[in-house]
Amino acid sequence: MALSPLPAQDLAAKKPFARIGILTSGGDAQGMNAAVRAAIRAALYYKLDIYAIYEGYMGMVHGGDYIRRMTWETVGGILHKGGTVIGTARSAEFRTREGRLSAAKNLLEHEIDHLIIIGGDGSLTGANLFRQEWTGLLDELVANGQLTRELADRHPTLYIAGMVGSIDNDMAGTETTIGADTALHRITEALDALTSTAASHQRAFVVEVMGRRCGYLALMAALASGADWVIIPENPPSEDNWEDRMCEILAEGRQVGRRDSIVVVAEGAQDRHGKPITSQYIKTVLEDKLGEDTRITILGHVQRGGTPSAYDRNMSTILGFRAVEELLRCAEGEPAFFMGVQGSRVVKLPLMENVALTHYIGDCLSQGRFREAMDLRGKEFADAFRVLKTMVRAHPSTNGKVKKPLRIGILNAGGPAPGMNATVRASVRMAIEQGHSVMGIRYGFRGLLEEGNIRELGWMSVNGWAPVGGSELGTSRKEPEKHDLYRIARVLEENNINALMMVGGLAGYRACYSLYKERDNFDAFNIPILCVPVSIDNNLPGTDIAVGSDTALNNIMSAVDKIKQSAVASSRCFVVEVMGRHCGYLAAMSALATGAERVYLPEEGLSLADLSRDVDMLLNGFQHGKRLGLLIRSEHAHPTYTTDFVARVLDAESKGLYSVRQAVLGHLQQGGDPTPADRVLASRFAAHAIDWFSNQGKEDLRQHAFIGLQHNEILFNEMDRMSRLLNKDNTHPRDQWWEELLPIIKVLALPGVP
Ligand code: ADP
Repeated sequence: MALSPLPAQDLAAKKPFARIGILTSGGDAQGMNAAVRAAIRAALYYKLDIYAIYEGYMGMVHGGDYIRRMTWETVGGILHKGGTVIGTARSAEFRTREGRLSAAKNLLEHEIDHLIIIGGDGSLTGANLFRQEWTGLLDELVANGQLTRELADRHPTLYIAGMVGSIDNDMAGTETTIGADTALHRITEALDALTSTAASHQRAFVVEVMGRRCGYLALMAALASGADWVIIPENPPSEDNWEDRMCEILAEGRQVGRRDSIVVVAEGAQDRHGKPITSQYIKTVLEDKLGEDTRITILGHVQRGGTPSAYDRNMSTILGFRAVEELLRCAEGEPAFFMGVQGSRVVKLPLMENVALTHYIGDCLSQGRFREAMDLRGKEFADAFRVLKTMVRAHPSTNGKVKKPLRIGILNAGGPAPGMNATVRASVRMAIEQGHSVMGIRYGFRGLLEEGNIRELGWMSVNGWAPVGGSELGTSRKEPEKHDLYRIARVLEENNINALMMVGGLAGYRACYSLYKERDNFDAFNIPILCVPVSIDNNLPGTDIAVGSDTALNNIMSAVDKIKQSAVASSRCFVVEVMGRHCGYLAAMSALATGAERVYLPEEGLSLADLSRDVDMLLNGFQHGKRLGLLIRSEHAHPTYTTDFVARVLDAESKGLYSVRQAVLGHLQQGGDPTPADRVLASRFAAHAIDWFSNQGKEDLRQHAFIGLQHNEILFNEMDRMSRLLNKDNTHPRDQWWEELLPIIKVLALPGVP
């Protein structure tokens, strides 16, 4: 338990009388419920009163029953719901001073002077204006007798904590906004589905996605789904005859065997002169110039629909929790802030500076300063655009070749993970584009020990791989033994492989490490060797996140959502076992995403005393009307206290109040199509990995390394550091960023607080 004590209650002592109001405003976004739930439970945990203001600013202006005090239970069972259960609206009245006057009066009826607002930049701008006017509004209310001076004086400042709910991901300063990841799921599912029907009929599809002033959804969805062309507001086609260029690329694609043409267009797409590029116009171009049978699909509100993704649930939960903590830390007069994501971590950011920057980017777009707009979108955006430009080609281009081309052997190793194919596909094309050749090695390191497993991978050999789960190359967990090394060295030499790229998990990392250690004995291993992290377990050194883990997490989450539905009918407690080997990442994150009351992790262990306490927790809960218990156990949480053992103990002690079932989720966690986040990360790794190979010999680069994403930056670690970054058993990284979140999981699951 030492790893994750509960957050310090003494934070509450800073503002024992603070009362918080929370509302959702503007367009709805999946994940708003998670943020609302977390903020409400955090406030209750810190012993504060918190009120939901229903229907956004409209409810605040009208007051009365729109403002309701919240309890722990009122936000139970909402994590998986799309939209917002406390309602959202657009309010013309709040744009007027009279409206805001009435809003201030309604808030002070409950003595609320801390507000949490979840909405887009419009809602947050409104909140800031309200804050700036606060003193004046209260003076006016006192002057016309609607408020006592004494009450007004008790609330000199209105404190504002924002969170950005916007599926477009269009807010400056934060890497992601609530709802964007889920919208990307919906779009990518649609594009995958359209790709198969388009291919069957050899049709072209123009797919319009949301994003009036931001091309994030269009760009990432195009990259994730392997679309053939994308048009976004930030990067209008550079030539005036861009229609010819687009048609040329699409026609070339047909010639080399592509059966479909998919063009993704953001709703705010425009040309360099600011003229809108509509989906209808693109359809006409494709029909006239290519004679293609072309259909338009406008995805519309489907993009706002459905259950929130694991990322949106978890990120929003952390944002909501931290928003309350930051409100408690606020000094008097503190300007409005919002909780956002930077370097993949939740941080507090100044509100108005970032709203201004968001508007500035909008101005860049309307005034034709596209390069500046593109730069302001950040590195991930730029990476994605660069990769996409290469991916859509039917052939490699003729320029930009490296002086010393390599013959790169590429293999998958470790357990199969969604995103392996997306990584290999992007790597193959990026490598060929830069002038290298790529040899695909089947079945991982085992394939190097057998005959006939090496073949060259051409540009079109990886066509259609992006959305496919599993490993097309084939993978194995084989780690070469001492006596295998000679054979491996021979095979590399015979095939003239002078660079090696391992795309996979811990077994692959260990294998590469052993080649590195033996490089003095075998010259064949004195070649650039790079490990790329792809593993559902997310247990790899030098990276915050591995490709594949997001898909596994979503797989677990959807399975548990279904299990929960089945269980509420009958007072049942489920013990769900999830994968992860010796790393608790999947268990912890799925507990956060599904609202489990308990998670058993290898990092924390499990004792008989813990089990006894959990029995008490369940008995107490079910005695007081609870109908569902959910406990998640990581597969190696404890060698003796197995899932079966835990379930039997809980059942034996249930006193007939509940029945216990166990669910071992098994291989469904490794399967399925990769999520958009995994596919996008796959191509980001691929692009940087191939740059690393191309730069070999140029700079002060080590020959043997592993790539990773840390704080949203791509980094390379020397192979030698591997053992230092791993724990003593070499089963997971020594430092795991997500362990900081364990206290939040605990608080949110505390039954019946206060
Ligand atoms: P979003 O928050 O998604 O950008 P809107 O721009 O429609 O959505 O804003 C939602 C609501 O926020 C508006 O209906 C209005 O009540 C309030 N609001 C927006 N901008 C302002 C503003 N400048 N001043 C006061 N209230 C505003």
